[in-house]
Amino acid sequence: MANEDTGKIDKILNEIVEEIAGNDIVPLVELIKNKSNVSEFKIAEKLNITVNHVRNMLYRLNNYNLVYFTRKKDKKKGWYVYYWTLNMLELRNLSIKLKTDMLNKIKNKLANEESGVYFICPDKHVRANHETAMEYSFRCPECDQHLVNENNVKTRQNMEKLINRLNEEIHLLQAMEIKLVKERKLTRIVKKKKVKKINKLKKKIKMKKKKRK
Ligand SMILES: [Zn+2]
Repeated sequence: MANEDTGKIDKILNEIVEEIAGNDIVPLVELIKNKSNVSEFKIAEKLNITVNHVRNMLYRLNNYNLVYFTRKKDKKKGWYVYYWTLNMLELRNLSIKLKTDMLNKIKNKLANEESGVYFICPDKHVRANHETAMEYSFRCPECDQHLVNENNVKTRQNMEKLINRLNEEIHLLQAMEIKLVKERKLTRIVKKKKVKKINKLKKKIKMKKKKRK
Protein backbone atom coordinates (compact mmCIF):
# COMPACT_ATOMS: atom_id res chain seq x y z
CA MET A 1 0.00 0.00 0.00
CA ALA A 2 1.35 3.42 -0.94
CA ASN A 3 2.38 5.87 1.78
CA GLU A 4 -0.22 8.32 0.54
CA ASP A 5 -2.95 5.70 1.11
CA THR A 6 -1.65 4.92 4.60
CA GLY A 7 -1.93 8.62 5.43
CA LYS A 8 -5.49 8.70 4.09
CA ILE A 9 -6.45 5.61 6.08
CA ASP A 10 -4.99 7.11 9.28
CA LYS A 11 -7.09 10.20 8.70
CA ILE A 12 -10.28 8.17 8.16
CA LEU A 13 -9.67 6.06 11.27
CA ASN A 14 -8.99 9.13 13.41
CA GLU A 15 -12.16 10.72 12.13
CA ILE A 16 -14.16 7.65 13.19
CA VAL A 17 -12.47 7.50 16.61
CA GLU A 18 -13.28 11.16 17.14
CA GLU A 19 -16.87 10.64 16.11
CA ILE A 20 -17.60 7.72 18.44
CA ALA A 21 -15.34 8.40 21.44
CA GLY A 22 -14.40 12.09 21.42
CA ASN A 23 -11.51 14.07 19.96
CA ASP A 24 -9.33 13.78 23.09
CA ILE A 25 -8.98 10.06 22.24
CA VAL A 26 -7.20 10.67 18.92
CA PRO A 27 -3.69 11.31 20.41
CA LEU A 28 -4.06 8.17 22.53
CA VAL A 29 -4.98 6.06 19.50
CA GLU A 30 -2.05 7.55 17.57
CA LEU A 31 0.20 6.57 20.47
CA ILE A 32 -0.80 2.89 20.76
CA LYS A 33 -1.40 2.30 17.03
CA ASN A 34 0.97 -0.30 15.50
CA LYS A 35 2.21 -1.29 18.95
CA SER A 36 1.10 -3.96 21.34
CA ASN A 37 0.72 -4.13 25.12
CA VAL A 38 1.42 -0.49 25.93
CA SER A 39 1.46 0.18 29.67
CA GLU A 40 -1.19 2.64 30.85
CA PHE A 41 1.48 4.39 32.91
CA LYS A 42 3.52 4.97 29.80
CA ILE A 43 0.46 6.37 28.00
CA ALA A 44 -0.25 8.71 30.93
CA GLU A 45 3.35 9.91 30.92
CA LYS A 46 3.44 10.49 27.16
CA LEU A 47 0.10 12.35 27.09
CA ASN A 48 0.87 14.17 30.34
CA ILE A 49 -2.42 13.17 32.00
CA THR A 50 -3.36 10.99 34.99
CA VAL A 51 -3.64 7.20 34.79
CA ASN A 52 -7.31 7.49 35.77
CA HIS A 53 -7.91 9.78 32.84
CA VAL A 54 -6.12 7.31 30.54
CA ARG A 55 -8.31 4.46 31.85
CA ASN A 56 -11.46 6.51 31.31
CA MET A 57 -10.40 7.07 27.69
CA LEU A 58 -9.57 3.42 27.17
CA TYR A 59 -12.91 2.30 28.62
CA ARG A 60 -14.61 4.53 26.07
CA LEU A 61 -12.75 2.66 23.32
CA ASN A 62 -13.45 -0.64 25.04
CA ASN A 63 -17.20 0.06 24.73
CA TYR A 64 -16.72 -0.45 21.00
CA ASN A 65 -14.32 -3.41 21.38
CA LEU A 66 -11.54 -1.24 20.01
CA VAL A 67 -8.89 -2.23 22.56
CA TYR A 68 -7.57 -5.40 24.13
CA PHE A 69 -5.81 -5.51 27.45
CA THR A 70 -3.66 -7.81 29.52
CA ARG A 71 -2.76 -7.14 33.13
CA LYS A 72 0.22 -7.94 35.25
CA LYS A 73 0.67 -7.63 38.98
CA ASP A 74 3.43 -5.21 39.97
CA LYS A 75 5.13 -7.31 42.63
CA LYS A 76 6.73 -4.37 44.39
CA LYS A 77 3.68 -2.14 44.56
CA GLY A 78 1.11 -4.94 44.75
CA TRP A 79 -1.31 -3.51 42.19
CA TYR A 80 -2.22 -4.48 38.66
CA VAL A 81 -0.82 -2.65 35.65
CA TYR A 82 -2.91 -2.86 32.48
CA TYR A 83 -1.31 -3.15 29.04
CA TRP A 84 -3.33 -2.06 26.05
CA THR A 85 -3.40 -2.90 22.35
CA LEU A 86 -5.54 -1.27 19.69
CA ASN A 87 -7.92 -3.71 17.98
CA MET A 88 -7.22 -2.60 14.41
CA LEU A 89 -9.47 -5.20 12.82
CA GLU A 90 -12.46 -4.03 14.83
CA LEU A 91 -11.65 -0.35 14.20
CA ARG A 92 -11.44 -1.06 10.48
CA ASN A 93 -14.73 -3.01 10.43
CA LEU A 94 -16.54 -0.37 12.46
CA SER A 95 -15.22 2.36 10.16
CA ILE A 96 -16.43 0.48 7.08
CA LYS A 97 -19.83 0.02 8.70
CA LEU A 98 -20.23 3.68 9.66
CA LYS A 99 -19.00 4.91 6.27
CA THR A 100 -21.36 2.51 4.47
CA ASP A 101 -24.32 3.74 6.57
CA MET A 102 -23.40 7.30 5.64
CA LEU A 103 -23.06 6.36 1.97
CA ASN A 104 -26.51 4.74 1.91
CA LYS A 105 -28.10 7.77 3.52
CA ILE A 106 -26.58 10.13 0.97
CA LYS A 107 -27.58 7.83 -1.89
CA ASN A 108 -31.18 7.91 -0.68
CA LYS A 109 -31.07 11.69 -0.40
CA LEU A 110 -29.67 11.97 -3.89
CA ALA A 111 -32.41 9.71 -5.25
CA ASN A 112 -34.95 12.04 -3.61
CA GLU A 113 -33.28 15.05 -5.19
CA GLU A 114 -33.29 13.39 -8.59
CA SER A 115 -36.92 12.31 -8.46
CA GLY A 116 -38.47 15.29 -6.75
CA VAL A 117 -38.93 18.92 -7.58
CA TYR A 118 -38.18 21.31 -4.76
CA PHE A 119 -39.59 24.73 -4.03
CA ILE A 120 -37.79 27.43 -2.13
CA CYS A 121 -38.45 30.85 -0.71
CA PRO A 122 -36.41 33.47 -2.67
CA ASP A 123 -34.95 34.47 0.71
CA LYS A 124 -34.24 30.77 1.58
CA HIS A 125 -36.57 30.59 4.60
CA VAL A 126 -37.97 27.22 3.51
CA ARG A 127 -37.22 24.41 1.13
CA ALA A 128 -40.10 22.03 0.44
CA ASN A 129 -41.00 19.14 -1.85
CA HIS A 130 -44.11 19.38 -4.00
CA GLU A 131 -46.46 17.95 -1.38
CA THR A 132 -45.31 20.30 1.40
CA ALA A 133 -45.26 23.27 -0.96
CA MET A 134 -48.91 22.55 -1.75
CA GLU A 135 -49.68 22.57 1.99
CA TYR A 136 -48.08 26.01 2.14
CA SER A 137 -50.15 27.03 -0.93
CA PHE A 138 -46.81 27.77 -2.56
CA ARG A 139 -46.14 30.69 -0.21
CA CYS A 140 -43.37 31.00 2.34
CA PRO A 141 -44.74 30.50 5.88
CA GLU A 142 -42.20 33.07 7.15
CA CYS A 143 -42.45 35.97 4.71
CA ASP A 144 -45.40 35.05 2.46
CA GLN A 145 -43.41 35.37 -0.78
CA HIS A 146 -44.22 32.99 -3.62
CA LEU A 147 -42.13 29.82 -3.52
CA VAL A 148 -40.08 29.23 -6.67
CA ASN A 149 -38.76 26.15 -8.37
CA GLU A 150 -35.33 25.34 -7.08
CA ASN A 151 -32.42 24.57 -9.27
CA ASN A 152 -30.84 21.68 -7.37
CA VAL A 153 -27.94 20.94 -9.73
CA LYS A 154 -25.42 22.25 -7.22
CA THR A 155 -26.89 20.20 -4.35
CA ARG A 156 -26.81 17.08 -6.50
CA GLN A 157 -23.24 17.71 -7.57
CA ASN A 158 -22.17 18.09 -3.94
CA MET A 159 -23.92 14.84 -3.03
CA GLU A 160 -22.26 13.03 -5.91
CA LYS A 161 -18.87 14.31 -4.76
CA LEU A 162 -19.55 13.07 -1.24
CA ILE A 163 -20.64 9.66 -2.59
CA ASN A 164 -17.41 9.37 -4.57
CA ARG A 165 -15.35 10.31 -1.52
CA LEU A 166 -17.14 7.76 0.70
CA ASN A 167 -16.73 5.04 -1.93
CA GLU A 168 -13.01 5.76 -2.10
CA GLU A 169 -12.67 5.71 1.68
CA ILE A 170 -14.54 2.41 2.00
CA HIS A 171 -12.38 0.94 -0.75
CA LEU A 172 -9.20 2.02 1.05
CA LEU A 173 -10.40 0.53 4.33
CA GLN A 174 -11.27 -2.75 2.63
CA ALA A 175 -7.79 -2.89 1.12
CA MET A 176 -6.35 -3.11 4.65
CA GLU A 177 -7.89 -6.53 5.06
CA ILE A 178 -5.10 -8.87 3.90
CA LYS A 179 -2.57 -7.77 6.49
CA LEU A 180 -5.11 -7.83 9.28
CA VAL A 181 -6.45 -11.29 8.48
CA LYS A 182 -2.91 -12.66 8.60
CA GLU A 183 -2.42 -11.10 12.00
CA ARG A 184 -5.60 -12.69 13.19
CA LYS A 185 -4.56 -16.12 11.95
CA LEU A 186 -1.27 -15.79 13.80
CA THR A 187 -3.10 -15.12 17.04
CA ARG A 188 -5.27 -18.16 16.45
CA ILE A 189 -2.28 -20.42 15.90
CA VAL A 190 -0.72 -19.20 19.11
CA LYS A 191 -3.97 -19.83 20.92
CA LYS A 192 -4.23 -23.39 19.54
CA LYS A 193 -0.73 -24.13 20.78
CA LYS A 194 -1.69 -22.83 24.19
CA VAL A 195 -4.78 -25.04 24.23
CA LYS A 196 -2.65 -28.06 23.32
CA LYS A 197 -0.28 -27.27 26.16
CA ILE A 198 -3.14 -26.94 28.59
CA ASN A 199 -4.67 -30.21 27.38
CA LYS A 200 -1.34 -31.97 27.87
CA LEU A 201 -1.12 -30.64 31.40
CA LYS A 202 -4.67 -31.78 32.12
CA LYS A 203 -3.84 -35.30 30.86
CA LYS A 204 -0.76 -35.42 33.07
CA ILE A 205 -2.77 -34.42 36.10
CA LYS A 206 -5.40 -37.08 35.32
CA MET A 207 -2.71 -39.76 34.97
CA LYS A 208 -1.24 -38.78 38.31
CA LYS A 209 -4.64 -38.97 39.97
CA LYS A 210 -5.22 -42.45 38.48
CA LYS A 211 -1.86 -43.65 39.72
CA ARG A 212 -2.70 -42.48 43.22
CA LYS A 213 -5.92 -44.52 43.13
ZN1 LIG B 1 -39.50 33.51 2.97
